[in-house]
Amino acid sequence: MRITKLTLKAIKRAAQMAVDERMRRKRLRIGIFGGTFDPVHNGHLAVARAARRRFRLDLVYFIPCGRPPHKDRPGLSSFLHRFVMVALACAGEPAFIPSLLEAGPDLQGKQRSYSIDTVRRLRRLAPRAELHFILGADAFIYLSKWKDACRLVWLCRFIVATRPGTDMTKWREAPGVGTVFSWLRGVHVDVSASEIRRRARAGRSLRGLVPASVEGYIRKMKLYRNSRRA
Ligand code: ATP
Repeated sequence: MRITKLTLKAIKRAAQMAVDERMRRKRLRIGIFGGTFDPVHNGHLAVARAARRRFRLDLVYFIPCGRPPHKDRPGLSSFLHRFVMVALACAGEPAFIPSLLEAGPDLQGKQRSYSIDTVRRLRRLAPRAELHFILGADAFIYLSKWKDACRLVWLCRFIVATRPGTDMTKWREAPGVGTVFSWLRGVHVDVSASEIRRRARAGRSLRGLVPASVEGYIRKMKLYRNSRRA
């Protein structure tokens, strides 16, 4: 399957229309879920579903990053592949929005993406919305190192999903993050994108780890086959 720029523009337009319509509703509670999503997996989906339920979110934006500031690794799949997998995973879940907020003007996601800039953009799109930033504990413990972390904390509430294996003492040591956040406990889907890439490289099944449509896409596009990166 070849995805042309034209197809991507159509996807963007469709996504934008869905967003615009919902944005007209007042006081939306919006979840912002960013990640490399290389690939998006059932752990991400479980977190988003639980966050939506528990914090009564109207929408959850899945925002694949451009060039991630904290994960600048060789072999990262193209923005387009990561976005398409997110779009497939969100299909059938009307409250989940696959977002191109970090795609950049050429839709290639080539520039570095910082959460603070994305949140500001979303804030402009939905000035009255209540923004809830969703992330895993492994990412949260490094929040103080993020660009403009203090401002980010001021702009949105934080929902932190517990994640097996996270060393929370690192968070306690982090300065400036003694902020208001809510734990999202009890979503114990112990799956990671790195493990999925390893399995795909070894030709093993991804069943139960990613939606079937995403597994099909990985196979069809032969993703992660030759990557030496975990
Ligand atoms: P990798 O294995 O490549 O580091 P990942 O599985 O952590 O990837 P990301 O796209 O980097 O996936 O994660 C996006 C966000 O989702 C991060 O905030 C991360 O902490 C969170 N997250 C990912 N998997 C889980 C999980 N199983 N449980 C809770 N949070 C998760």
